[in-house]
Amino acid sequence: MKTKGFTADLVHADRIAGVEHGGLRQPIHTSVQYGFDRVEDLIGVFQGTKKGSFNYARQGTPTTAALEAKITRLEGGRGTVCFSTGMAAITAVFFTLLRAGDHLISSCYVFGNTNSLFGTLRSLGVEVTTVESGSIDEVAAAVRPNTRMVFVETIANPGTQIPDLEAIGALCRDKGLVYVVDNTVTSPALFKPKAVGASLVINSLTKTVSGHGAALGGAVTDTGEFPWQNYPNIAEVYRASNSADWGLLQVRKKGLRDMGGALSSEQAHQIGLGAETLSLRVAKSSENAQALAEYLEAHPAIQKVHYPGLPSHPQYEIAKKLFKSSSWLQSFELRNADRMLDVVNRLQLPIKATGLGDTRSLIIPVAPTIFWEAGAEVRKSMGIADGMVRFSVGIEEIEDLIADFEQALEGA
Ligand SMILES: *Cc1c(COP(=O)(O)O)cnc(C)c1O
Repeated sequence: MKTKGFTADLVHADRIAGVEHGGLRQPIHTSVQYGFDRVEDLIGVFQGTKKGSFNYARQGTPTTAALEAKITRLEGGRGTVCFSTGMAAITAVFFTLLRAGDHLISSCYVFGNTNSLFGTLRSLGVEVTTVESGSIDEVAAAVRPNTRMVFVETIANPGTQIPDLEAIGALCRDKGLVYVVDNTVTSPALFKPKAVGASLVINSLTKTVSGHGAALGGAVTDTGEFPWQNYPNIAEVYRASNSADWGLLQVRKKGLRDMGGALSSEQAHQIGLGAETLSLRVAKSSENAQALAEYLEAHPAIQKVHYPGLPSHPQYEIAKKLFKSSSWLQSFELRNADRMLDVVNRLQLPIKATGLGDTRSLIIPVAPTIFWEAGAEVRKSMGIADGMVRFSVGIEEIEDLIADFEQALEGA
């Protein structure tokens, strides 16, 4: 059976792939080792000639493979490798595909821990340049002979900046650069980075894909767009198979087998369950976010709302063109910044906590928490105002959210 719908495809994926006893979803495989009747088959698994078999759970289990297949379908990709967290997925991409002396260009608007990881990359001899990714001219001007990769986030957390995704895709194709797009905030429910020529797509499955704040996970999806036969950093041993598989094979072998950030079957199962309602949850939380952004922008106590669904947002047109909605992520600043902590404290419904893409609304002042270690200078370079509050909008009823803001902002 062929389905066109995002959710129909997702909720029937395991059953159609075939599960023992007619099960509707892949069970949780807890085995670490996988045994063989004939030693030749075991040898075949090690040498990559026996496909579709499992060996040792650090490289995957039938449960993580079922999740990988779902993410691949959602992203319209060629293959996916899952990791224990989104950061493990990002680390695997950088550390398995870049070498000392290579150059990486990144958007200056990225997740704080990704920015911190750039420091580690630099200490190991990889050059990293961060650029204003909304300007294709700035990105193009940063390209050097040793540039290998460009990294961006679809909607940046927490400032909601959007790169010139299509133009960067064209540039990467033209220059032969690996284009890595972190799709965490939009998720495949709102946007498939393959459409703008992404080579690899990152998803932190911890966020909106699993959606309930109950599991950690990450994924790297190869869209099939990048010609790996032209990439210099593929080890000889991985060049035996079809060249379309080389990039992801190296990410799996080096990033998962050697670096060890494996996703457990239990977490993969939890993420797969949560993902079944991805499109429904994102539709509701985005609708809430749009209404709340409009409410906040019109409120006299609010100085600025950062949300791509508002015409005041610098990349409003890009968001409208490329994304199904403007997502559940927004941030705002108060006119009277001194009242910020008081307003956050007065809110009853949103939980004062870090994290994103949950069923529940989560709120956090940015500068004194998630961007504290980065320091004032880095915050300024990443467009983070001291009074910025990040709001990850949940699926609660909008009337309750607005009523809560109404009372919290009173007199602010
Ligand atoms: C949270 C997040 C990550 C990291 O994901 P974890 O699963 O928490 O490691 C990466 N990128 C973005 C945009 C994120 O929001």
